[in-house]
Amino acid sequence: RWTEVPLAPPDAIFKLTAAFKADTYPNKVNLGVGAYRDDNDKPWVLPVVKKATDILVKDPALDHEYLPITGLPEFTSAAARLIFGSDSPVIAEERVTSVQTISGTGANHLGALFLSRFYGWNDKRVYVSDPTWVNHHQIFPLAGIPVSTYPYYDPQTIGLAFGPFLETLKNAAPRSVFLLHACAHNPTGVDPTREQWGQIADVLLEKGHFAFFDCAYQGFASGDLDNDAWAVREFVRRNVPLLVCQSFAKNAGLYGERVGALHVVSPSKEAAVRIKSQLSVLARSEISNPPAHGARLVSLILNNSELFEEWKRDIRTMAGRIIDMRKELHRLLTEELKTPGNWDHIVNQIGMFSFTGISPAQSQALVEKAHIYLTANGRISMAGLNSHNIRYFAESLDKAVRG
Ligand code: PMP
Repeated sequence: RWTEVPLAPPDAIFKLTAAFKADTYPNKVNLGVGAYRDDNDKPWVLPVVKKATDILVKDPALDHEYLPITGLPEFTSAAARLIFGSDSPVIAEERVTSVQTISGTGANHLGALFLSRFYGWNDKRVYVSDPTWVNHHQIFPLAGIPVSTYPYYDPQTIGLAFGPFLETLKNAAPRSVFLLHACAHNPTGVDPTREQWGQIADVLLEKGHFAFFDCAYQGFASGDLDNDAWAVREFVRRNVPLLVCQSFAKNAGLYGERVGALHVVSPSKEAAVRIKSQLSVLARSEISNPPAHGARLVSLILNNSELFEEWKRDIRTMAGRIIDMRKELHRLLTEELKTPGNWDHIVNQIGMFSFTGISPAQSQALVEKAHIYLTANGRISMAGLNSHNIRYFAESLDKAVRG
């Protein structure tokens, strides 16, 4: 039995983490990690989350009953206001269907499953950026949607390959589906400018394409929740057909609690009701009902103005530390070490990840010679840098670049 089951390769990031853990070198650095770390390289429980947890556990009415299939209503409605803006007409007109999901991954999956069944396909495929979060390549085929890529990253400029990106949008069959990272593109840290987003929206509208927004870093990117929702809100304002996958893993530090939502925007309230009925059927067959704890925490934070203000401060703490690390790394490389090459992308990129532009061989040298763990594509997690290890990293990078 099971003799025909092949051994699957381990997940690259989890493999990297295992290698890091096994390394006994005292100054080892983990830049593969996709989670926020404080200046002492420790996971950070947001103070506002601690407060919300206290409130929650002291609630005498707290029980462990099932949530509704589509999730905690106070959570999903507040989550929709967070991404679309509380004054958004699509909320007032009840044109948004919001369903609680197993964090951002579950939102991507449910969104994919829904489109797979109900999208009026011309050409059944989803276009994702090259490169993208690796899991996109697994989630969509699992739901029966083949994946194609659109050019996104230009290694020459370590920036956006905007021309080729637009060309692909223009040449795709009408009504194609494009996955877009709402902010803080993973893995490159390269986002379109507002002007470029405008041009992307123009082509989407012209061709009748659908925008599948993946929003895993709202607030975490710039430190400002509204600023990071700009592209989504602009597309909504311009009536681009879309859905949004929303995760609270990063911005609330609730990675393991799996708090997220899928929001589908419809042309009418009546369509939103029908979509909700189908999403309920899909969610029922897969998870029956979503987990309660994390959604209750986020609901408390979003629906209480004092906690909400405190959350915004915590978000600024995280985003601010990451931005400081970018500035310091840039200063060390350009001013102190005078490392060959241009390093402006370090400060121009946004969010947790940065594409350094170094080669796979240089990345490998950092792992093997300096005990600095990063993925072969040269992506580093800024959250792995802190005041204690940044100089060591800059010096090691300098050596790797000089060869
Ligand atoms: N989308 C992107 C682009 C991500 O970077 C991530 C987190 N790595 C996710 C979705 C989903 O994460 P989670 O399921 O933990 O919310």
